[in-house]
Amino acid sequence: MRYLILSDMHANWEAFEAVLRRARRKRFDAVLVLGDLVGYGAAPNQVVEAVRDLGPRLHTVRGNHDKVVTGIDSGGNFNQTALAAAQWTTGRLTPANLRYVRSLPRGPVQVEEGLAICHGSPLDEDTYVFSDVDAWEIFSRFQMPVTFFGHTHIPSLFWLEGRLLGVKALRGTSGRIQLDPGGRYLINPGSIGQPRDRDPRASYMTYDSAKGIVRWYRVEYPIQESQRRIRKAGLPHTLADRLAFGA
Ligand code: ZN
Repeated sequence: MRYLILSDMHANWEAFEAVLRRARRKRFDAVLVLGDLVGYGAAPNQVVEAVRDLGPRLHTVRGNHDKVVTGIDSGGNFNQTALAAAQWTTGRLTPANLRYVRSLPRGPVQVEEGLAICHGSPLDEDTYVFSDVDAWEIFSRFQMPVTFFGHTHIPSLFWLEGRLLGVKALRGTSGRIQLDPGGRYLINPGSIGQPRDRDPRASYMTYDSAKGIVRWYRVEYPIQESQRRIRKAGLPHTLADRLAFGA
């Protein structure tokens, strides 16, 4: 199966559109969306509707922002900026889009034999996976060969091959990883709508599960247009500013 893997769009329509335009040139058997469709950005309805249009072979999980926006979680652990954006989003989503976001499943979700997706950690959907220590705990308690996750907004790869534990940040415009059939992997495609690895370009991945090949891509998009939309919506200006730095 050939998968297109998308995460953390965060209501950034210009970034999402650029990724969809680039990725559509190729053929995919299914699309995996790792959560946080909304929150931070100013185009929640466009992004949710574009995700809904990705079906029928679409697998999704919910993100922490999706939960706060739809009232599943109170947002008690959100900072002021994130909470303000979530409340703005709740008021902005159409009833149908709000229902769709509320119905996104909790991860992990198994997509095929040996492949799962989640937002944070497969052990807890809201937990960040940053370090080799985090990965080690998951490898010892979650027996899945390949898991794609989001939440940190940092394109990265954690692997366990034999007794060797490794971690790598995935940099550059594009790249390719050949997975070892005997290894186990936790893979983050990075964020489309709010990258945080000091590269402001939208980030996504593809995965060929038959060949064990992961590819990552960075795509330029009209950042100033997303920023203008955020400022015009009355959202906190820091949400616009940070897009230029990828931070
Ligand atoms: Zn996120």
